[in-house]
Amino acid sequence: MIYLDNAGTTKMFEECVEVHKKFSCEQFFNPSALSEESMQVSKLISETEKFLLKRLGASEGNILFTGCATESNNLAIKGSFRKGAWEYVFSEGEHPSVYNVAKKLEMDGCVVHFVPLASDGCVDLRALEKVLNEKTRLISIMHVSNETGAINDLKKISEIKLKKCPKAILHVDGVQGFMKIPVVLRQTAVDLYSFSGHKFHAPKGIAGLYVKNKGALKEIFQGGGQQFGLRSGTENVSGIMQLRKAVELIVEKTNFLRVSRLKNVFNSALKENKVGLTCDDACKNLQNGAVKIENCDGVVIRDFCGSPYIENLVFQGVKGETMLHALNQEGVIVGLGSACSSKKAGNRILEKIGVSPEDIISSVRISFNAYMTDEEVLKAAEIIKITYHKIKEKVS
Ligand code: PLP
Repeated sequence: MIYLDNAGTTKMFEECVEVHKKFSCEQFFNPSALSEESMQVSKLISETEKFLLKRLGASEGNILFTGCATESNNLAIKGSFRKGAWEYVFSEGEHPSVYNVAKKLEMDGCVVHFVPLASDGCVDLRALEKVLNEKTRLISIMHVSNETGAINDLKKISEIKLKKCPKAILHVDGVQGFMKIPVVLRQTAVDLYSFSGHKFHAPKGIAGLYVKNKGALKEIFQGGGQQFGLRSGTENVSGIMQLRKAVELIVEKTNFLRVSRLKNVFNSALKENKVGLTCDDACKNLQNGAVKIENCDGVVIRDFCGSPYIENLVFQGVKGETMLHALNQEGVIVGLGSACSSKKAGNRILEKIGVSPEDIISSVRISFNAYMTDEEVLKAAEIIKITYHKIKEKVS
C-alpha cells in the first residue's frame, strides 16, 4: 500500500508504542495527585511544555494539551469570545473546526467577517487590512491550508494586526504547519497556535494550543481546574509524552527538504520525466505566491507553491471520487481534501479560490510524508497515470 493522504493523518512512529506502555502501565499516575510519583509525572509535563515552546520558537507562553486540534480551535475561538460590540475575523480558507465555529458565532448574532482568499490560496492581505479595526476582538487565520498547501505569511499578518488592532487576539490554526514548515512564533504577533499530534506521526487523541497570555482566554468547560483552569480534565500523560517523542524524532528542516524532493520526483514522474531533482533544485522551485498549473496528458498538477507536503491533482474528465476508489483498488491511498468534509459534495476552499466546478469535481489531494521512498512515489505516479488513462478510455 502506498499512502498519499498524510494531511488526513499519518502513521504513528513505532517508538511511541514504548512510550505509551511506560506512561500507561508504569508511570501511570495522575499528574494532579500529591504523591511523589504524581509530582514526577507533573514535572515531565512541565518539561514537555517548555520543550514544545522551544520548538514553536516562542519566547513566552504556555501549552494547553487537548484531545484534538478541533478542540484547540474551539477553545481558542470560544475562549476569546467576549460579550459586547466586538468583531471577529476569519479567512474563507479555514478548516471546518474554525469555519463552523465562525458560522455559529454569526448565527448567534456576532459581527463576523470572512476575508477572501487570493488565487494562490493565501488570505487576501489587502482585504484583511480593510476589515480590521479597533473593535476587532479575534483574528483567526490558518498557517498552511489543508486543501492546497498555501502558506499564509504570519509575519505580514502580524504587521497588519499590530497596525490596525494591536489589542486583538491573533489565532493561527497551525495543524498543517507545525513540524512541517519553519515556525518561529517570537517573530510574529501570534497569541494562540493550534497543532495536532496525529498529523506528525504522534498518536490520535493528543493535540495542543499555544497560549501567549493565559489572561486573554476563558475556559469553555468547567471541571477540576487542570491546566490553569483553561482545560479541565486529567491530562493524557501517555499522549503528551508520545507527542514529545514524535517531535524529538522529527528534524523539520531535513524532512522539509526530503518532502520537497519527493514531490519533485513524483511530479517529474507524472510528467514522464523521471530525472530526480537534488534537494537544492527542489528548494529553488519552491517559491510561495504563484500557482503553477501543468497538464500532463490530462492529469493536471495544480501546484500552489506553498507547503511541499500537499498538492492538488485534477483528472480531466474523471471524477476525483472515482479516481480515489480506483486507486484504492490498486493499493494507492489519496484524499479528496479535508477528511471531515470529504463526504460532502464540492470543495468550499477550491471554490473560493476560483477553481472551476469541473476541476473541483475532478480533484484529489495528494499529501506526502518525509519517510516515503523515491520508489514509492515513482510507483504511485505510474499507477496514477495507468489508472487514469484506463478510466478515461472507458468513460469517453
Ligand atoms: N485544522 C486543520 C488545518 C486540519 O487539517 C485538521 C485536520 O484535518 C484540523 C484542524 C483538525 O484536526 P484534528 O483532527 O486533530 O481535530
